[in-house]
Amino acid sequence: MNYLLSKDEMDAAFHSISMDFKCYGAVEREGEVVFDRVNSFGGISEERSRYAPKEFLISRNEDVLVLGTQDRKAVFGVKSCDLKGFYIMDRQILGKDPFYTEKRRNTLFANFVCNEPCDGGFCSSFGGPVLDEYDLQILREGEMYHVMVSEKYDGYFSSFQREDSSYFTSFKEEFNRKAEPLQVEGVEDRMKWDSKLWKEYASRCISCGACNFSCPTCYCFDLYDEGGERKREWDSCILGGFTSSSAGNIRNGLDERLRQRFYHKFVYFKRSKDTYLCTGCDRCVEDCPVDIDIKEVITHDYSGE
Ligand code: SF4
Ligand code: SF4
Repeated sequence: MNYLLSKDEMDAAFHSISMDFKCYGAVEREGEVVFDRVNSFGGISEERSRYAPKEFLISRNEDVLVLGTQDRKAVFGVKSCDLKGFYIMDRQILGKDPFYTEKRRNTLFANFVCNEPCDGGFCSSFGGPVLDEYDLQILREGEMYHVMVSEKYDGYFSSFQREDSSYFTSFKEEFNRKAEPLQVEGVEDRMKWDSKLWKEYASRCISCGACNFSCPTCYCFDLYDEGGERKREWDSCILGGFTSSSAGNIRNGLDERLRQRFYHKFVYFKRSKDTYLCTGCDRCVEDCPVDIDIKEVITHDYSGE
């Protein structure tokens, strides 16, 4: 359902959600936008957070022998590119990873739809900031808020003024036209196994793993024992130990590991799950200390090599 709310009405809707959920929002702290507890709609930032709010669903480090129950959480101010990453992760791990599944089912995400394309971001290449899957998406127009609510959470908004979906539809068309999407479709067929890109990237990459850790679609973890606990923590396919086992390492070369990352995102996942493992958020580009840009993997002329 679609609704049109004033700022005061958004506060009222937030208040009724906060009766059932612990509320978090994007807020500015010491010059950075991070997620923290919030007690009103008014204090939530429209700026993109420094990091994707992936930790609401996958802890950086946790004991896998203890599956606790989760509080119900509502997270406001998530950007659409990050939220879309969670819907993509759902296809791989929802219902299979009990820790993720428990948190996912108890978390409401309210995404703030960007009014303008951001620098570097290329979400329009993957459909743009108006999502097809959502809990609650909010698009501010001046002092008013257009809200699109899933059936599950419609009860929090049903007393407000309804509108049809045409504002979101025309906004989406205009946004994607302005943002000039990249030609992603078919990249799974264009990419080349022995492209010179992988060695060129390997000559610069320092194997820090930041590209994976910042990505809202990356879900890999490592398991280890520590002090009587069995733990897991975020892992990265770029790190040398990722595929290391007692039988050796199947991807010893950094060029092979970089190729794996891009092939997983644009070839393997597309062929197995019918979607790319990327939302165009540009976080991996922003966080890469040596300026490796995933957009080049999409636009590179492989046939010209
Ligand atoms: S742009 Fe980079 S960080 Fe963002 S979803 Fe794609 S691969 Fe992940
Ligand atoms: S962020 Fe850049 S330097 Fe670090 S592992 Fe990824 S590609 Fe390599």
